[in-house]
Amino acid sequence: MRIAVAKEIEVGERRVALVPDTVARLVKQGLEVSVEAGAGERSFFSDAAYEVAGAKIIADPATLWGEADVLLKVGVPQEREDGRSEVDLLREGAVLITFLNPLGQPAVVQRLAERRVTAFAIEMIPRTTRAQSMDALSSQASIAGYKAVLIAAAALPKYFPMLTTAAGTIAPAKVFVMGAGVAGLQAIATARRLGAVVEAFDIRPAVKEEVQSLGAKFVEVQLKEETVAAGGYAKEISEVSKQRTQEVVAEHVKQADVVITTALVPGRKAPILVTEDMVAQMKPGSVIVDLAAEQGGNCACTEPGKDVLWNGVTIIGPINLPASMPIHASQLYAKNLATLVQLLIKDSALQLNFEDDIISSACITHAGEVRNQRVQEAIAQVGTTV
Ligand code: NAD
Repeated sequence: MRIAVAKEIEVGERRVALVPDTVARLVKQGLEVSVEAGAGERSFFSDAAYEVAGAKIIADPATLWGEADVLLKVGVPQEREDGRSEVDLLREGAVLITFLNPLGQPAVVQRLAERRVTAFAIEMIPRTTRAQSMDALSSQASIAGYKAVLIAAAALPKYFPMLTTAAGTIAPAKVFVMGAGVAGLQAIATARRLGAVVEAFDIRPAVKEEVQSLGAKFVEVQLKEETVAAGGYAKEISEVSKQRTQEVVAEHVKQADVVITTALVPGRKAPILVTEDMVAQMKPGSVIVDLAAEQGGNCACTEPGKDVLWNGVTIIGPINLPASMPIHASQLYAKNLATLVQLLIKDSALQLNFEDDIISSACITHAGEVRNQRVQEAIAQVGTTV
């Protein structure tokens, strides 16, 4: 059974799917591992380190993809510079595991099904206790939350902690975190460690205790509707509820030196939590870091991938923050993938038990079929709009 690790070709993607330590573990379990030459370069893992771990380095991508039983990568397969699609390099029956963005890129999923590839979308792993060690959304979101605070601290023209100095006393920065999922909770913890006074808000009332246990104040908004969908994710809320939350959070945004937004609703554009009016009320020098920038942004003034200065407020819309910390992002992602590989491979053979909720949720294409109904609908939608 040959596991292959591809070099990412997406501009700005610095992560790699396996690090040498995980390669060594898989080799010890009797698997063969191939790594594309230079795959770990941008995350500071050399070809030599992979070779020491027991991997075979393969320079030609077509050979690496073509010989793979299980191909591991980070991002959605793409068109290569030579005009060939990465999907077409895989052999029939091969397994692909990656962040597949199946609802956002249904055409890629359709091609994988046509090529009879068994494709797993790592972001579709259920958020259950049993699947925790495979939960790449969490491992990467945690990095994004941490890094968002460091970016905010670097951009803020103030200290974060309270300081008592001979030259006077400095008040601590006020940080307001909107959305207290995995990224938001890590942002709260990081901002607290830097000495800020932190408040947080989420439409899921269940996070109140977690927020408080990190030493932050929870901003409560009473809504007259259910805000939690299946799987524990947030629902899209009604216009009335949006209005109500905006009324409550406006005052907290106004008082904050730093606002970090992380609110997402799966399969939807990110909700606008910070309106232009709210930004206009903020103190000059304040900073907003919008982690939802890639999904359209939680702030009305966000421009994805850019820093915007708006009425004296700096609004930062970072893209792919986990890739900016590629050593640990890759290390954690590699552990997530290796655990899934171990679930799929028994006695050096692929064993797909579709009764297993992890396998049935994350497997998007198999034996020529698209297995996920929402992805089937997305494909049909693309078909009708072409
Ligand atoms: P996410 O990235 O989908 O969303 C981030 C946060 O934004 C969520 O907390 C959500 O409630 C919040 N949000 C959405 N709309 C909002 C709005 N209008 N206003 C304010 N906040 C809003 O979330 P996530 O971090 O991926 O977590 C999703 C769920 O998965 C949570 O219930 C989390 O507890 C759960 N989870 C479980 C496990 C596990 O049990 N192993 C692991 C990780 C996450």
